[in-house]
Amino acid sequence: MVRLAIGIDVGGTKILGGVVDEKGMVLARARRVTPARDPEQIVRMIVSIVEELRRVAAGPYEGIGLAVPGQFDERRGSFVRIANLALMGFPFRSRLEEALGEPVRIENDTNAAALGEWRGGAGDGHKHFIYLALGTGIGAGVIVHGRLLRGAHGAAGEIGHTVVEKDGPQCPCGNRGCLEVFASGGALARRAAELAELRPDSLLATWKREGRGVTASDLFHAADQGDAPSREIVDEAVRYLAVGVNNLIELFDPTVIAIGGGMAQLGDRLLSRLAAAIRLQRPGSPDVSGRLTQARLGDDAGLVGAAAIILQRGDL
Ligand SMILES: [Zn+2]
Repeated sequence: MVRLAIGIDVGGTKILGGVVDEKGMVLARARRVTPARDPEQIVRMIVSIVEELRRVAAGPYEGIGLAVPGQFDERRGSFVRIANLALMGFPFRSRLEEALGEPVRIENDTNAAALGEWRGGAGDGHKHFIYLALGTGIGAGVIVHGRLLRGAHGAAGEIGHTVVEKDGPQCPCGNRGCLEVFASGGALARRAAELAELRPDSLLATWKREGRGVTASDLFHAADQGDAPSREIVDEAVRYLAVGVNNLIELFDPTVIAIGGGMAQLGDRLLSRLAAAIRLQRPGSPDVSGRLTQARLGDDAGLVGAAAIILQRGDL
């Protein structure tokens, strides 16, 4: 008998659901737009996804797991931190369990994506694996000895808020010089806007005059074409990212680090630069840049991981 669970990935713009088997295969999918502000509407949307999945894929399911962009306090049953969703202070789990009529498990989205990639993607077969999410923000899900490292408060793996520059610029988290301030998609966009002001003759300034939002992909493309300010931004971000990755390697000694999140779409344009920067920063150590790879599951990682929490035998 194939074991099945429902995994739901609740994002700031979309909610993705899937029926997933124990090998991490997605047998059915459903998606909705995330309701803007009302937590009760978010609950209703999740219920409607679960109902749709139950209609299209025959059960039985062993449970429902959710991936959410925040830190959920198991004891209090509500979020300690939550990004882009109006769920702070809301009794999310109890309302969902009431509406769905069964228990649900809630996991941080980066941790869930790490479990997803570990189960059926880039980390398959590795006992020591890290999923590094590079998007608007930066986070990591760390698997050591075949277990997800959660820490005492479910907050382990927050590599984006490790300090890589003492006295660096202020991060929205309140600290200074966090990796996220230098190397996230948000940081790239901010630096592009700054340099557009300083260099009115640059491609960045032209884009700004055209009212065009600059993406990480634009910047990498312009850098490849030899645009000096874009190159400066990209090189700086990659150097800091390499610091972060080297720190992860020294701390956890993973055999694979998979890059996921929005910036993963840059593919080899990012990976090859990052590998070169990693080598450069470790002149006296063996080359570890080959441990870097691309995440494989794309948008499915979160929901596959959310289902894996239900299907994993023993304690995850
Ligand atoms: Zn920070």
